[in-house]
Formats: sequence, C-alpha cells, structure tokens
Amino acid sequence: MAPPWAIELVRQVCAAAGTSEPAVRWRSARRAASSGVTRRSLGSISVTAGTDELDQHLTLLHELAHWLGPVPRRGRGRVLHHDTRFYGVAFDLYRRHGIPDAEMLAREGGRYPSALRHARAAGIPGADGAWLSRREALRERARRTGPPRVLVAEHTVRLVRDGRWTRCAVCGVRVVGPTLARLRRRAGRHILLGRG
Ligand SMILES: [Zn+2]
Ligand SMILES: [Zn+2]
Repeated sequence: MAPPWAIELVRQVCAAAGTSEPAVRWRSARRAASSGVTRRSLGSISVTAGTDELDQHLTLLHELAHWLGPVPRRGRGRVLHHDTRFYGVAFDLYRRHGIPDAEMLAREGGRYPSALRHARAAGIPGADGAWLSRREALRERARRTGPPRVLVAEHTVRLVRDGRWTRCAVCGVRVVGPTLARLRRRAGRHILLGRG
C-alpha cells in the first residue's frame, strides 16, 4: 500500500493536470534509493521505495511526469523517455512539490546524466555548475582510462639474459614463452605502452 502522502501527491498532481489517476503499486526496499516504472497501457505506476524519503518523493514525481508527460518518442532506434518535453514536465513537478533544486540536480543528474543538459536549458539555478563539474569528472576519468602513453618508443628487441629470465635490453620488458622462441628465431620490434 502506498503511504498516505503518496496517495495525496498523486491525487493533487493529477487533479492539477486534469488527468485520471494511475493505480499506484508500492513496495519497500531496504536500500536508500527508490526506483519506479510507469506503464501507461496498464494505467499504473510502480514504486520500489527505498529508505530515503526525499528520494521516494522525487521518484514518485518522476513517474508522475511520465504519466502526465508526452508519450515517449523513438529516436535513433530507441525510445526517448527522458527528452526535453519530459523534463519540462518533471522539473515543473519537482519545483512545485518541494524538491530543492540542488537535490534535484544531484539525484536526477546522478541517474540520468542528460538531465543536467535539460536543466541548463531550462535555466535551473545550479545546473551550469553541476553540468560543468560532471564534464570535469568525465574528462578526469577519460584521462585515467584513456589511450595508453608510449613509454618506450618502438625499437628492435635486443634479448639479454637477466638471471633466469630473458629481457629486452632496450625497454627492460621480460620476454617469455612463444614470444621468446619467435624472437630468438628472428628479430622483432617492440613498443612499450603504459599508463601513468
Ligand atoms: Zn523516467
Ligand atoms: Zn623492448
């Protein structure tokens, strides 16, 4: 059973929009975050409510935005659930029903990064900053996981003994197994790549 505040919120939102109310299915989960699904064809919204109350509110409002909002369009082969028109409805609901802008940006942007682009376009205060810091975080991640750097330029392998191992004298890499057998038969070239 949905809690009374949720039933009241659904009633208010649908009355204000002049639409019928969905059947709300509600269940509780032990995790903090909530999730939801809206099925227009079944006339229902299902919420799996986590323990964080603000997240319950935001999730229900998000699903209500699907309920009120435009029928999802197809674009580039997939259904665009969260497009500009959707966020036009959703941001309006969040603000009218007491979700602070900063919370909305952090939570909606955390789940759906494209929300930040729509929030900027909609002029939500703080959206520029949230978008910029996300872009910075993505760049930082790309730097860490980006293409490897050349640590030692391409060179002809020169095999040398190093105790019980054989290494390339130029880059120091240990050469073993089939590679070693092949390099003993004929010269090969090396390039040493790495991160750091
Ligand atoms: Zn959604
Ligand atoms: Zn080498």
